[in-house]
Amino acid sequence: MTLPVVGAGPPSTFVAPDDPLRDRFARQVRYLRVSVTDRCNFACTYCVPDDGIAHRPRAELCTFEELERIVAVFAALGVRRLRLTGGEPTVRAGFVELAGRLRRVPGIDEVVLTTNGHRLPELARPLADAGVAGANVSLDTLDPARFAALTSGGDVTRVIAGIDAALAAGLAVKLNAVALAGVNDDELAALCRFAWARGVVMRFIEHMPLSSGALYDRGRELSAAAIRDHLATEVGALEPSDRERGIAGPARYWRLVDAPAREVGIISAMTEHFCDACNRVRLTADGQLHACLGHDDAVNLRDVVRAGGSDDDLARAIAWSVHGKREGHEFQRSGGGAPTKHMIAMGG
Ligand code: SAM
Ligand code: SF4
Repeated sequence: MTLPVVGAGPPSTFVAPDDPLRDRFARQVRYLRVSVTDRCNFACTYCVPDDGIAHRPRAELCTFEELERIVAVFAALGVRRLRLTGGEPTVRAGFVELAGRLRRVPGIDEVVLTTNGHRLPELARPLADAGVAGANVSLDTLDPARFAALTSGGDVTRVIAGIDAALAAGLAVKLNAVALAGVNDDELAALCRFAWARGVVMRFIEHMPLSSGALYDRGRELSAAAIRDHLATEVGALEPSDRERGIAGPARYWRLVDAPAREVGIISAMTEHFCDACNRVRLTADGQLHACLGHDDAVNLRDVVRAGGSDDDLARAIAWSVHGKREGHEFQRSGGGAPTKHMIAMGG
């Protein structure tokens, strides 16, 4: 069959390598991020362009069955860990059921999610019961007015209640903040203390210029070095932590010299990028497999399923995508080289 693809699909001459999840640069894909919706109950300034995005019609989203099928093929190829994201994953109708179904796909050992936390007060316990192991919760500021402005109406007290509900339900929690000058750089220490008081790690993310570099926060980016400088001044001297990188994610961890149990992570995709160790690919809600966050290339796996493709066809399309995984992203802090795609559709 001819594979229906977005971008360049596998030519008939393409022979999938023995290990379809090993790319041309000898990087091994171990981890699949699945965006289950491109919709969100927030609209964070650093994520959504001012004029919004064109949401995919419902009929274009992968159904639960299509997602199970695609995930099962990834699992057969060796992926063991899934992260469910969005948009905001918890706004997808039936999300708890979906999480449980994906957790039960043979071969999948761990399902975690990335969420803005708004729905965790109600959903943390059902998600834990469905087999979800952890939640990374976005928390950029503790100030209610600032939070509402940054997220377009979000309620930080609800998110904090969601974080506490997640901890009470036994989920492994990490907190994430995009660090931005003039937005939350005066709160980096307060966010760390908030996290440490709950025994969890705080992670700061360097802003990435998706949406063709057109996001509102362009120009407010803080580099990893600037984040470390802030923290060293405001919370104390830091030293590298030996917390494992890799399968656990791209963050580099630091700990307080005077209190080593207090750790902070920095995800520095821009100034200290980690492309050489990248182990992930991303599936959008409409089934596009993106091998790199920093490029628009994608292969549409949903179309393979809807065209009646076999599991072998899906594996071949996955292999083609992984084969095409770029050596690294090319975006600059100025926005140059940024992909046209939007973070809200990619899920981080
Ligand atoms: N709605 C969920 C949330 O906010 O956690 C999941 C999707 S969100 C796109 C995933 C992560 O991407 C969040 O931690 C968010 O802070 C981060 N993010 C969004 N836009 C970003 C950008 N331009 N640069 C860096 N990180 C970004
Ligand atoms: Fe929504 Fe998450 Fe993007 Fe904020 S970062 S707009 S919560 S998808």
